Parts: sequence; C-alpha cells; structure tokens
Amino acid sequence: MKETKISSLTKALDKAASIDEKQLAREIRAIGFKCRNCAHCCRAEYGDNTVFIFPSEIRRICEKTGLKRDDFAMPTPSQDRDSKGNIHTFEWVLAKNGDCIFLKDGLCGIYESRPYICKTYPFYLLDGRLMISECEGIGGDITEEDCRKLAALLKERYIAEIKESIALLERFRGFNPTGSGVCIHDSEGEHWV
Ligand code: SF4
Repeated sequence: MKETKISSLTKALDKAASIDEKQLAREIRAIGFKCRNCAHCCRAEYGDNTVFIFPSEIRRICEKTGLKRDDFAMPTPSQDRDSKGNIHTFEWVLAKNGDCIFLKDGLCGIYESRPYICKTYPFYLLDGRLMISECEGIGGDITEEDCRKLAALLKERYIAEIKESIALLERFRGFNPTGSGVCIHDSEGEHWV
C-alpha cells in the first residue's frame, strides 16, 4: 500500500518535472489575475483560510522572523487516535485567531517568507493541471512577466508538495504511541507536542 503510493507519487514527480511553464503562463494570462489586496484569502469571514505549511517553510519563517515553530504553526486538525488515545495528524497549518495570525492591518506580516499557498493564490496545480480558487482578482490584468513568475512558482510548489508527500510516506511508521499528546507526521519524521 505504502510502496504503491510512493511509486505513484514518484511517477507524478517525473511528470511534474516536464510541466511546460510557458503553457502554464499562457493559461494564467488567458484567465487573468490582479491581486486587489483585499486579504479575503487570509480572513475567516470569507471562507476556509487554512494555510498548510511544510517543515522547510516553517524553518524559513523562523529564520526570517526569529519566531519559534510553536509560535505560529499548529498540527493539522485531526480526530485520528492511536491505541493510547493520542491524536495523530499529518503536516502543519498556520495558526489563526480566526484570521491568519500574520495578518496585521490588512497586510501580511511575513510577506517575503509567506508560504507557497499564499504566494500562488488563487492558483494551484492538481494532477499537473491548473486550478483556480475563488478570488475577486480573477480576470484582472497581469503582465507576461508576472505570468511567467507565477507559472514557475506553481511548478516549484507542485514539485515541493510531491517531494514532501514521498518523504513523509518513507518515514511514516503508523500511528504508534511512542510519545504522548499530539503526534505530527511530516517529511522529517514524528513530532510530539
Ligand atoms: S501568511 Fe500572509 S498571505 Fe498567507 S494567509 Fe497569512 S497573512 Fe495572508
């Protein structure tokens, strides 16, 4: 089961490497996008504002801000339990106080080191295809250069997501009660909090 998943992700990774960025950029241009700085994607009142983050992104935010992981990252909510009742979950999300905790006066407090999801919003790739989330900026004017940059970033994010999933699966040893509290499984192993 685990080996089958890793094998299919490895194939997806090979395919991802050949994603045509120029074609992706053309698709983005045809759709159009201009950020309106409304910060709706960071706020609770406009829908699901959950931001998943990888260990590498957590490290980058720690380096840039001086914060510690537990100051801004939380285990992804989960109801899965091991035989001793400990919660197990996969990966991390940015903490919220309703809105994202980094949102201050309508602006992102970690703009330069914000996670991939934020940098590429409202676009993402699913099975290598361009998908769009709800956003008021869709249809706006975007330059060719910005389309190229966004396409490159989307491809980079997609590859990072697949690599993260592979590394997570390789390290995953099941839901074992080797600690107490909440166990987060990610590409770097198990973290108990
Ligand atoms: S990290 Fe920044 S861009 Fe991302 S949700 Fe939080 S405030 Fe918004």
